[in-house]
Formats: sequence, structure tokens, C-alpha cells
Amino acid sequence: RRRLDSRSGPTGLLGEIQTQISTDVLENHFDITGELGRGKFAVVKRCAEKATGKVFAAKYLKKRRRGRDCRAEIIHEMAVLEAARNNPRVVNLHAAYETDHDIILLLEYAAGGEIFDHCVSEELLPEAQVTRLIRQTLEGVHLLHQSGVVHLDLKPQNILLTTLSPLGDIKIVDFGLARRLGAVGELREILGTPEYVAPEILNYEPITTATDLWSVGVIAYMLVTGESPFAGEDKQETFLNVSQVNVDYSSEAFSRVSELAVDFIRKLLVKAPEDRPSAADCMTHPWLWPPCPGLEPTLPVPRTLRERSSGGKWAMPPEDTEDK
Ligand code: ADP
Ligand code: MG
Repeated sequence: RRRLDSRSGPTGLLGEIQTQISTDVLENHFDITGELGRGKFAVVKRCAEKATGKVFAAKYLKKRRRGRDCRAEIIHEMAVLEAARNNPRVVNLHAAYETDHDIILLLEYAAGGEIFDHCVSEELLPEAQVTRLIRQTLEGVHLLHQSGVVHLDLKPQNILLTTLSPLGDIKIVDFGLARRLGAVGELREILGTPEYVAPEILNYEPITTATDLWSVGVIAYMLVTGESPFAGEDKQETFLNVSQVNVDYSSEAFSRVSELAVDFIRKLLVKAPEDRPSAADCMTHPWLWPPCPGLEPTLPVPRTLRERSSGGKWAMPPEDTEDK
């Protein structure tokens, strides 16, 4: 799923962690109750603490990958999770264990699965749910960016849900490719899946927060249409679609999508990173804040109505009234 093979040695990685890595046998304290996901170098298992019954997700990360020691990358992933400890939209790191082959991150369990499932399902989520999930994603991304971290691998498989029914809140996972802002020199090694990465990543340009906002655009696109905007027949075609920003908003997939949703996505899927809105900018987009039924009287009142209402207090708010 991802590439971390470094030729130039691990640079720009965080090396300081607070969490103790225990050499206790995890299975002595936890019952493994299933598999949640699997990547090239990681397996994530559902587990229950024997003493409390509390459920966690255990991410087993291989210490050696392609014959190379990758401990530094794992420590970095832990350090980023620790830095995001106060971010309510990021999964919590609870503890860590170590075996001969793996470091195991014991993570807060997100029971609702990946939002990916809602991007490929026959039944798409109603737009009101999509906007709620996108607002939460933007909130998480904004807080990450404020703390100087870019995720660089945001995709529907890495945005999880706390519960499925009723649909809960989002939790961002997988900080394997995350970097500190301003880190340079190793972008060549951190290519994510072409389908989800921004044009500047394919061109090996410097890391900025705007890269994550491209991904938010792709995620919003997928949630409202059920289709992947740039996926081609093969990697080359996908690559070309991304670098040419080859998106079709007029297709059948958009027939039931609101104008505001299209406007939101259009503003994010732009080639030049500097022309994309920030996470904070996105939060003010009207798509994300549909008018509330019952609050209409605070909207501008038509002249005819204004003149008819004598007292006017209920129908005519002062000019400076906020519409919230
Ligand atoms: P990788 O680096 O291999 O992509 P991830 O951290 O993305 O590893 O985890 C792989 C998959 O495991 C995720 O896409 C998700 O389906 C599942 N998963 C990961 N963390 C959790 C968690 N905290 N709770 C529930 N499922 C999880
Ligand atoms: Mg992942």
C-alpha cells in the first residue's frame, strides 16, 4: 500500500516518544478477536483486554522491511500519534508492545469501519451525513496542520468511524507517511497510492498542508458520487488523470449531487497547491453549513414583507445580527 524504502536514510523523522514499549507478551493481556485490516507491512487486529474487556485495535508493524531496519519509521509514527493526543479526530495511542519481529501499537478502536465502505456501497450516504463527516475531517486536519504535521496519506481507507449504526464520528488513522511541516528531502520515498495523491507529490515538490486538502477533495468526491475521481485502467492512466486534474463534473455520477458540493470539490481539486483553500477556509464553505429550518426569520426579509410588518421585531432583525 505504501513505499518507505529509503535510499538516503531516514531523515526528517521524529525520534522522541513518551510511550514505553513493553516487551511483555501482548497476548498474555489481550484476547485477539479478529482482523481489521492488512497492509504491506502492517496487520491490524481487534483485541480485548482480558482484565477489563475493553476493545482496542492492535497495529502490528514489521520492524524489518525489505531487509532494512524500519524501527525509526515506527517510532516516528508513534511520535506523530503522541503529538496529536489532544486532537479528538485522531485515534489515540494507548500503549506499545514489541516482539522479535514487530512493534505493536495498541490503538483506540474505531468500531464503525472505514468511510471507504460508504464510497463503494450501492447506497450512498445522504449529503447531510457527508457534510458532517467532511466537517469533522477538516477539523482534524486543521488541528494537525496547526501542530505542524501533514498527514500525506488521507484516503477513505484511513478515515474510520467510531460507530456504524447510527453513523458515528470520524477518526483519522495511519500516520506512517505523516511528516513535520518543513521536512524536506525524502518525498521521493513517500509516494502514497496514485489514486489519492496530489499532483505536487507526483512531481516531488515540497510538502505543504495543501496536499492534505487535495485528499479531502478526493474523499468528498467519493462520498457524494461513489466513484474515484482519478482512477484509471492502470497506474499510468491514473497518474495522467491526476497531473492533468482530469475530472468530469457533468457525468451521470453528479446528477443527484448539489451545486454547493460540486463547488466545494472544485475548489480543492486544483493543480496549484497555493490556490487551494486551507482547512480553516474550507470550514466556512456554505456546503458544510446548510440553512437550519426554523432560523429563516434571521435571513434578509423581502422588502414587501418588511413594509407590511409594522413593529417588525420578529421579521426584521437589526442589520448587524449574526445569522447563527
Ligand atoms: P496501513 O499502514 O497498513 O495502511 P492502517 O493504520 O491504515 O495501516 O490500518 C490498516 C486498516 O486497519 C485500516 O484501513 C482500517 O481498516 C483498520 N484499522 C486501523 N486502525 C484501526 C483502529 N484504530 N480501529 C479499527 N480499525 C482500524
Ligand atoms: Mg492505511
